[in-house]
Amino acid sequence: MKKLIEEYFEQNRELMIRDIMRLVRIKSDKEEAKEGKPYGDGPAEVLAVALEMASEMGFKTRNYDNYVGAIDFDDQKNKLDILAHLDVVPGGDGWSVTEPFNPVVKDGRLYGRGTIDDKGPAVAALYAMKAVKDLNIPLKAGVRLILGTDEECGSSDIRYYYGIEEEAPMTFSPDASFPVVNIEKGGLQGKFESRFEESTETPRIVSFKAGIKSNVIPGEAAAVVEGIDPEEIRDCCDAVT
Ligand SMILES: [Zn+2]
Repeated sequence: MKKLIEEYFEQNRELMIRDIMRLVRIKSDKEEAKEGKPYGDGPAEVLAVALEMASEMGFKTRNYDNYVGAIDFDDQKNKLDILAHLDVVPGGDGWSVTEPFNPVVKDGRLYGRGTIDDKGPAVAALYAMKAVKDLNIPLKAGVRLILGTDEECGSSDIRYYYGIEEEAPMTFSPDASFPVVNIEKGGLQGKFESRFEESTETPRIVSFKAGIKSNVIPGEAAAVVEGIDPEEIRDCCDAVT
């Protein structure tokens, strides 16, 4: 059986990559809500395309008001939920191999925003269901793939879904690289502030800025510093390097 499954994925590899790229091309970071589209156009579009992909494979699908989509393996009651998501963080700057929403395969790797988080794993889970179906592997219970569209901004999509549906007794979430991630860093989204007496004494930091979103590690940072002799900075940098 293992050999059959491996062969199946060898044969379907290109199709799977094609489908991941199809989703990566859709810019699906959160936008302002519109009527019937709680996270804007991009997340609704990527969800529609993914559900169409699944129904072309012969699965029943349901769109929960553009919050999440569900794909059922068959008519049995689901005992396993697979949670993946199709929204992404913003494209950001500094890409070298390609632009964020123009996926390419280079040197055996797929580049583009969301390839690993989480469009790639979402499509892999869908193909896993397709493999079980095409290879006629019998299942004793139902499996449901749930595709969210607000994971990166607080998971209000999943709260909406579980307000309507029951949780299955088993759940896993393919949301990063293979095989299993059993721990993730915590997130503290706080606001820190302090007040100082106004002063124009130098040297001083006038402003600083970094990052595009609170759950994205900043790629660059910039500060405006006043009252430092450029020579001193050079000496300091030399000392560091
Ligand atoms: Zn993710």
